[in-house]
Amino acid sequence: MKIVDGWLVVTESQNVEHWPSPNFNERPENAEIELLVIHNISLPAGHFGGSYIRDLFTNCLDPQAHETFPEICNLEVSAHLLISRDGSITQFVNFDERAWHAGVSSWQSRKACNDFSIGIELEGADDVPYESAQYKALQQVTKLLMDVYPKLTPDTITGHSDIAPGRKTDPGPAFDWKGYLSGIS
Ligand SMILES: [Zn+2]
Repeated sequence: MKIVDGWLVVTESQNVEHWPSPNFNERPENAEIELLVIHNISLPAGHFGGSYIRDLFTNCLDPQAHETFPEICNLEVSAHLLISRDGSITQFVNFDERAWHAGVSSWQSRKACNDFSIGIELEGADDVPYESAQYKALQQVTKLLMDVYPKLTPDTITGHSDIAPGRKTDPGPAFDWKGYLSGIS
């Protein structure tokens, strides 16, 4: 894999799909990418597989498909990347643009983390162990991003729950921070 003009591009075996989301806008002038935010998502909650996450991020989620979908189908949210259970990667927003993943948030007393962060969603749930293929893909992508965006370092990787405490719990206790971070240095 490599990053070309803000998009991940496949070079070998890693599977990357692009599904451009309309849910993004420009980063503020002079904003630099300094933070990586790890999330989880599953739709419906606790169920893996299918295209509902992609549908949500591209504003195509069918409100009829599940009883919880009417309240989320118009949220207009996104992330830069989704890493599915099998380790495959979907990119929704160019890294140089601002995706809408963090919401009300604060990191080292700086607010509005979307301005200066990249958001990566892992298909998962707080208490369900993530797949090794997901860690592998996440580590690969993290290393690439640190190469391209030098202000990103292992010290500027955080969880959604850390920048929106009390409001968000992802990626949850199931996420193996130690194992993940040991694979990117
Ligand atoms: Zn999140």
